[in-house]
Amino acid sequence: MRRRELLTLPAFLWAQSTPIRNLILFTSDGLRWQDVFNGIDPKLMGERAAHMHEARHLRDRFWREAPEERRAALMPRFWGRLAGQASISSEILVTNAFKVSYPGYSEILTGRTQDDVIRGNEPKQNPSESFLEVLKRHWRLDRAQAAVIASWNAYEWMAQKTPGSLEINCGYTNIGGSPRMEELSRMQHQMMSDEPETRHDWITFEIALEYIRLHKPRVFYVALDETDEWAHKKRYDRYLQMIHYVDECLDRLWTTVESMPEYRGSTALVVTSDHGRGSTLDTWTSHGSRIPGADRTWLAVIGAGRPPVGELAKRQCDIAPMILRMAGAAT
Ligand SMILES: [Zn+2]
Repeated sequence: MRRRELLTLPAFLWAQSTPIRNLILFTSDGLRWQDVFNGIDPKLMGERAAHMHEARHLRDRFWREAPEERRAALMPRFWGRLAGQASISSEILVTNAFKVSYPGYSEILTGRTQDDVIRGNEPKQNPSESFLEVLKRHWRLDRAQAAVIASWNAYEWMAQKTPGSLEINCGYTNIGGSPRMEELSRMQHQMMSDEPETRHDWITFEIALEYIRLHKPRVFYVALDETDEWAHKKRYDRYLQMIHYVDECLDRLWTTVESMPEYRGSTALVVTSDHGRGSTLDTWTSHGSRIPGADRTWLAVIGAGRPPVGELAKRQCDIAPMILRMAGAAT
C-alpha cells in the first residue's frame, strides 16, 4: 500500500463502518457550551442580576475548583457514563446570520443556511427537506417511525418540508396510544407554563419516553426548550436546575435505548443546541447576531456509528450530512 493511502485509512474505515439502524436527535434550546463543558459559571454564580443571591444551595452543590469537576457535578451522567461512549466537541460554528432558534434548528435539520427565507422565528414552512425526512424515505419508514416530540409548537413547520410527512407532537397537543399518553395529554393542560406556545419540558420528555416504548421509532427527535426560557428571564438558578434535568433526561433516554433489542448497539444519539449565548453577566441571557458568542455551540454523538472526534461536524450545517453518512444515506 502506498504511503498516501495509508494516511487516508482512518477516514476511509469510518466511512465504511456499519451504518446505524436508528438515529435519535436531542436538543436543549440555547444551552451554552460554557456550562456543559465548564460547569457552574464563576462569573454568574454569585450575582443578584442572575438571581443567584439566594441560591447558596446550588453553589454548594455544583461548585468545584477544577472545570472538569464542576461539569461532572452539574452533568454527572453525561460526563460519566455517556462521555465514555461519545465523541464530543465544544466548537460548533453556527453559520446562519441570525443566531436565533428557527434558523439554528433549520441549519441542524437541513444542513444548510437559508438566510433569505428563514430570518427569525416567524411561522413559515421549511423550504428544504430535513434529514429526518430524508432518513424516513431512505429507510422506507411509516410515519410513526419518524417522529418529533417537542415542547415548542414551531416544529410543525421547522422540522419538515412536506406537512404531515413526520409524526410531530409539539406545543400543547394531545397524543393517544396508551393510558400513560392520555394522562400526560391531560396533565399538560393542568400544569401550563407561562409561554402560550411552549409546554413544560417534563411533559415533552415523558411523552418521548412513552413514544419510544410504544412505537420504537427509527428516526426520533426530542426537543426541549426551558434552558432558553430561564436564561432569557435572567434566572441562572433555574437554568442550572434545567441543565441538571437535561442530564437526567439523557441518562434515562440512553437507559431506555440500551434496554431494548431494537436499539441496543445500533443507535446513535446526537445531542446539540440551536445557538450559543453571551459569556458575560450582561450577555449570557441573550443571543442573536449582535451577541458575541451566540455563534458557537456544541455537539455530542453517543453510541453506534459515531465518527472520531476529529471527524465530527465543525459547523452547525455539517451535522445533517454527518448523520446521513452515519446512516449510510449520504448522496
Ligand atoms: Zn432564545
